[in-house]
Order: sequence, then C-alpha cells, then structure tokens
Amino acid sequence: MRLSDPVSRLPGVGEKRYEALRGAGIRSVGDLLNHFPRDYDDRSQVKTVSMLIYGAVNTLRGHIAAEPENISFPRKNAGASGKPLIMTKARLRDETGELELIWFNQPYLKRYFKKDTEYVFTGKVDFQYGRARMESPEYDCGESVSSGRVVPVYTAAAKGISQKFLRSAIHAALKNLDSEVTDDLPACIREKFNFFDRKTAVYNIHFPESDGHFLHARRRLVFEELFFMQLALFALKNSIEKEDGETFINLDLKPLLDSFPFRLTNAQFSVLETIKKDLSRRRRMNRLIQGDVGSGKTAVAIAACFLAAQNGYQAAIMAPTEVLAAQHYGQFSRYFAPFGFHTVLLTGSMTRRERSAALAEIAEGRAQMIVGTHALIQTGVEYRRLAMVITDEQHRFGVNQRFTLTYKGSGSALLPHTLVMTATPIPRTLGLILYGDMDVSSISEMPPGRIPIKTYSVNSSYRARLHAFMQKEIAQGRQVYVICPSIEEKTAEDGGDSYAAVSKAEVANVAQYTRELSRALPGMRVACLHGRMKPLEKQQIMDAFKAGEIKALVSTTVIEVGVHVANASLMIIENAERFGLSQLHQLRGRVGRGNHQSYCVLVSDVRNNERTRARMRAMTKTCDGFALSEMDLEQRGAGDFFGVKQHGLPSFTIANLYRDMDILKEAQETAVQVRGGEIAVSEAETERIRLKIRALFGAYREAVL
Ligand code: ADP
Ligand code: MG
Repeated sequence: MRLSDPVSRLPGVGEKRYEALRGAGIRSVGDLLNHFPRDYDDRSQVKTVSMLIYGAVNTLRGHIAAEPENISFPRKNAGASGKPLIMTKARLRDETGELELIWFNQPYLKRYFKKDTEYVFTGKVDFQYGRARMESPEYDCGESVSSGRVVPVYTAAAKGISQKFLRSAIHAALKNLDSEVTDDLPACIREKFNFFDRKTAVYNIHFPESDGHFLHARRRLVFEELFFMQLALFALKNSIEKEDGETFINLDLKPLLDSFPFRLTNAQFSVLETIKKDLSRRRRMNRLIQGDVGSGKTAVAIAACFLAAQNGYQAAIMAPTEVLAAQHYGQFSRYFAPFGFHTVLLTGSMTRRERSAALAEIAEGRAQMIVGTHALIQTGVEYRRLAMVITDEQHRFGVNQRFTLTYKGSGSALLPHTLVMTATPIPRTLGLILYGDMDVSSISEMPPGRIPIKTYSVNSSYRARLHAFMQKEIAQGRQVYVICPSIEEKTAEDGGDSYAAVSKAEVANVAQYTRELSRALPGMRVACLHGRMKPLEKQQIMDAFKAGEIKALVSTTVIEVGVHVANASLMIIENAERFGLSQLHQLRGRVGRGNHQSYCVLVSDVRNNERTRARMRAMTKTCDGFALSEMDLEQRGAGDFFGVKQHGLPSFTIANLYRDMDILKEAQETAVQVRGGEIAVSEAETERIRLKIRALFGAYREAVL
C-alpha cells in the first residue's frame, strides 16, 4: 500500500465512509495518516475484575459468561416515536470474578458478543445496584487496536467516522504501508536533530511504542510542520520582494505634517522615512508597523495614504470594528479635505443607498481615501486606482483577510502597497510565523508628555471605594471606562455586525451593571455599549462619550481597539482574570492618552490561582507591552495570545505554539540556515522542499486569489 492510494483501499472503508472521509478532506492513505491524534488514552494496564478501580476508566480482558440479553423499558418521556429504551446486558468473567456490562439502544450487540469468547473492554466502572458495572464500554476482539496499549484519540473527522474505525483503519494503513515513505526533511537535518525517519515518526504518533518514542515522534513532526511553514513564508517574502508596485514620485509630506496639531515623534518620523524609501522604488511595499497602544500609528497611516493621494492613487484602510472605522473616517476626512482629497466610509451597516453611493465614488475614482471595515474586502467593491492598503489592528484579522485586501483587484495594473498595523507587541519568534512574509518596523517611542498609568489590582470588596474614586475623577472633569468581559463582539470573521453572537443574558449583565452604577453615581450620565447594539446606536454613544456628555461608559471589549478619548482617566476592568495580559494591556491603553494622571483598576475575586495572581501583579508592575506579551505567550501560548479568539494565526496540524516554542526556535534557525545555504542540501532534497513549499504557498494564495 502506498501513501497515494485512495482510502477506499483500506478495510472497512465502504462507499459511505469514503464519502464521509472525502468530505473531511481525507482522500488518500497519506491524508489519513496525517490525521494525527489530538490526545491519547493510556489503556496499557489491563486489569482483572479483582483489581478494578471504581469511578475510573478501566481496561480488562475476559470472556462473555452467558448469552447477552436485551431488556426494554418503556420511556417516561417517550416522544412521538414512542420507542422503548433497550438495554443490552452482558457478563464478563475472568479468573478473579465477574462484571456486568451494559449498553443502551444498541440491540445488535446481543448478537455480536459470543458466549465464551474473549474480548477486551474499556470503560468507566461504577458500583450500582449492589454490583460493579461498566456502562457503554468500548470493545475489541482478537488483536486489539483500542486497548491494552496507549491508544490514540482523534478529533471526529466526520459524521459516521468513529474513533474505533479511525484507529483500526490507521492501524491497518500503517501495517500495510510499503517500506519506503518519502521523507521531505533533508537527511542532514534529520541527523543533526537525531530525528526518527518519517515512517517511524508517523507510526509512533498514532501508536506510540513507548513514551520516549512518542515524544521523539512528536518532536520531529512538529519541527517538520514549523520548518516548512517558515520556509514557505520566507519564499512568500522572496516572491513579494520581486513584485512591482507603483512608484510614488511626490514624497513631500510637509504640507500634511504642518497641519497636524503635534510634531511627530522621532520614531514616527523614522518609520515614515522607511515607508517613503519603500514607495520610491519599483517594488511593492509589504510592511508591518508595530507600535504599542497610543504610540501614534494613525498619524503614520494618514501620512502613507496622503502620499498615495498626492500621487494620484487611491488608498484604503480597514479597521476591525465599526466604531474604529467611524473614528478613522472622522480623522482622515478632516486632514484630507483641505487638500481636496475626498474620503468615503464603507461599512456593513450602511443602507443600500449609502453603500451604492460610496461604491460609485470608489469605482469612479472620485474618492481618494476609503475607510471601512471588512466591507472593503467584500465582493462588489471595485477600486479605481488603489495603490495603498492598510490593515489597522491586524491582530483582530486573520492572515487571509490581510491577503484578501491586497490581492483584491486594485483597478490598477499593479498590486497595492501594503501596510499592516498592530498594537500587539509580538515576540520575535512568533512574529516570524505570523508575519514572516513582511518587513517589520517599530514605533518604539511614545508621544511626549504621557504620564504612566497607575494600575491597581483589587477584589470586589473595594466596590464602594471604587465608586467614590469614580465620583472624584468625574467631579474633576474626567471620564471613566468600565469593562465587563462576558459579552464578546464578533468582528473579524463575519463582516462585522453579528449581534447574534452575543447572548441576551450577557446583555442583561451589562445592562444591570449600568443601572447599578447609575445609582452609585447620582446625577452623572452612565451609558452602556455592547455588541448587540446597532452600529448607529454604538456610534451615538461613542460620540456622546467623546463629547464628555457621558461620564462613565460601561462597555464590553467593543472599545478594546483603537478608540481615542483623551479625557478618560480611569478604567475599571471587572473580572479581570478572564482576560489575557495582552488584552488587558490593550484595554488599559484606552486611558492615559491625555495629560492627566490615569488609573487602571483590575477587579478580580479569583485569588487562589497563582497564574492569575502573577498576571495581575505583572499588570501593576509594568506598562511595557513587549514584556507583557512575552509573559502572556509563556503563560497561555499563542492560541490565546490575542485574546479569546485565535486571530491571525495559521492553523497547524500538530504544532502547538503553546508547548512548542523551543521547537519553533530550532525550526526557524534551521530554516534560516537552509535559506542562507549554510546547511548543505542535495539537489533532490531541494526539489522536494520546493514542492512542499509550493503546496503550502499555494494554499496561502489560493485562499485569496
Ligand atoms: P495608536 O498607535 O494606538 O493607534 P493613535 O494613533 O490613536 O495611537 O494616537 C494616540 C493619540 O496620540 C492620538 O490622540 C494622537 O493624536 C496622538 N498623537 C499621535 N502622534 C503624536 C505625537 N507625535 N505627539 C503628540 N500626540 C500624538
Ligand atoms: Mg490605532
């Protein structure tokens, strides 16, 4: 049997299972073998009845003592079908005793189990009705794949594809595989790290011969996945570097910068110099700008778009929420209008009429600047001469969305220059995987005059004191944010306005909190903001908050990104333990934007969790986003790194960036060495790497082209 054979060649794969597997993207034997276990069950200890552990999962081997029986029970709440409940009962016997086995609604089992035949059962054993019984155990007969060993546990591939089936099909495939399995990893790398060959690794990832074998196998497969991913990103970077972009002739920013109410920081200047250099060449810019919250990325974005407009092109900026898009729209139009550049807004919540008016202005080139949400990448948007695209708060978008905006027809012969902005400081290793295809610049300096935010961690017994604190700040003319975590605004994936994602109970929670706070702050306007609100309503509330009419804003993480209200000086984060460090840091960045001393108070009643305590402590100790993100990554791994969802992370089959940061480092170093020619790779191996990369690379681009 070969890896390329269709799965239908495996025993037990009939038409139905074949279709089901195909639906899950498993066509060949190789695909099936790449369906790695998500976990393992240690069933290597086969017990006897006398050794059973009650309340736990046990594996035991024995004979069926008597013909099984089926017993029906009329159901209490029998629905329309009125079918009775059927219990199949059997008795297992070994030399030390007997155990009752039961299953429900699988009457055919009565005929499956033969008296005096030996089987292996795995299931939870309880002591009930005066005797030990195992309910709905898994069973095996003869040579066992599902018991007496460490057995793999798979994610359900598809409906009708059971664990049991997957185990035996994969086992059969491994057993019958022809000896040679091509190994894409060059021999010298395998030797250097003392890796298993691929076949041994794959065998041991499914059916580990020992703990040591498993770890060895996993290490190799994780390395392989990360190594090729990294090489693919490098290759992507290479190919992007060969792409032509529009050359901008007029790089004079002075008129725009003179109209800013502030002088750019040196860090902003130097990033803009880099961007100008990018744009003055023929090659397409593909750059990530990393800068902590409040470092002034918007000004850089405005300047980059200004250059596009000044050279006769269109520019677009995509923001993850409508609130942020509206805020950008305000700023861009204000700065651009004096130069005769027209700005349009495009979001999912616009009316048909508004939308088609905006679309016409974009298509006909009457609009030089386009600000929007994901609406920008939806079909129906035709650009006229788009030469600059910016994704703001990239960490809220997926990799593919970033690509889509770039590769969407620009209405011009060349692809647009790309600028990506993120406030999430990303540790270098992870950055290479997330943004390995891009050049990276950092805004490593804050605008002058910022006073560091004071952060405190308290429990809810401080509530009364907190109310007094809020009153004091408001009395001094300041404003307050309160963040409640439970409502999650769905943004990046779904076009921006999914209210459905937010449960009513959660809304009630924020609403109630708001009422209580209103009572605690008499005479002060308190409002709430959450993901279930209509965009217009959200906008009105944000406007009233910005105007200082609303004194305290109770909000969900809707405001996490980008929103700017310089007068807000106090942020209270409820249930702070539910947020990751990076997210807390982002939230905190909403205050401390003016020239008042600002405060952030983390409220949490979770006291017995060391990690939570460490997180709260870290927040009170430092305002350094980079330090916090490193710690976040260490604590929670990349999966949770960006908050609740895995924004922007490529998905891996086996690598887990939580556990595998050390392997990631090795894989990256090796990839760099291979790219630099420091590791000697044969002609044939290079070709194999090339094919492998092309497959990955294709997947990246196909998703958007
Ligand atoms: P972020 O990097 O988080 O997107 P913003 O671009 O929203 O930050 O900037 C935060 C605030 O700092 C805004 O009010 C902006 O006007 C102000 N700002 C930006 N650059 C400077 C600067 N060089 N000097 C003073 N204030 C600045
Ligand atoms: Mg911003």
